[in-house]
Amino acid sequence: MALNNRKLLYGGTFNPIHNGHLASVLRLKEHLDAELIIIPNGTPPHRETPDTSIEDRVEMLKLAFAQTEDITISDHEQGQTGPAYFFNTLEHFRAPDLEIHALIGSDQANAFRTWYRWKELLQMAVFHVIPRGEPLAEILDFTIFPFPVLPISSSMIRERAAEGRSISGLVPQAVEKYILRKGLYER
Ligand code: ATP
Repeated sequence: MALNNRKLLYGGTFNPIHNGHLASVLRLKEHLDAELIIIPNGTPPHRETPDTSIEDRVEMLKLAFAQTEDITISDHEQGQTGPAYFFNTLEHFRAPDLEIHALIGSDQANAFRTWYRWKELLQMAVFHVIPRGEPLAEILDFTIFPFPVLPISSSMIRERAAEGRSISGLVPQAVEKYILRKGLYER
């Protein structure tokens, strides 16, 4: 149980959760000694609605984090039909004496100025950026998380599964089994 009053928020589509997500967020959680809040989104403002149901995406998150302590899979953005803005999510979790941290990839960081009320966001939480394929175009008030990123993406998993190729080692074993059993991403 984390003794300090820190929450680490990690939002995404998680279609599906993969080992790149896990490696980075668990490393940062440990570094901060924070409670982890995973926030799968319903209708993300910056992207298309995923065709995998929220139930399946949440089920895979539960399997992936089954051994992790101090974690909540939040349903805050799940039921929202309109775009879910991170600003509203932060407002929801804000509390006196609570330190909020968030982890985002450099792809998200490069689009940060398009985020609703982005300047205020930087006052509300510490944003840790993990460098992915694309370099950071501009340094806002971010903390760079120097972690060797695993070259994995959800789209890579979906593509491989659709082509009937192995996804072993790219997602946790239980998630791999779930994808195969339910035939997710099959064409
Ligand atoms: P897609 O391939 O469908 O675009 P994704 O792999 O980027 O999906 P998301 O659910 O959109 O996955 O990502 C949630 C968050 O995790 C984002 O901030 C994203 O930048 C970050 N992220 C994604 N892949 C990695 C990775 N391999 N290592 C570290 N962070 C990652």
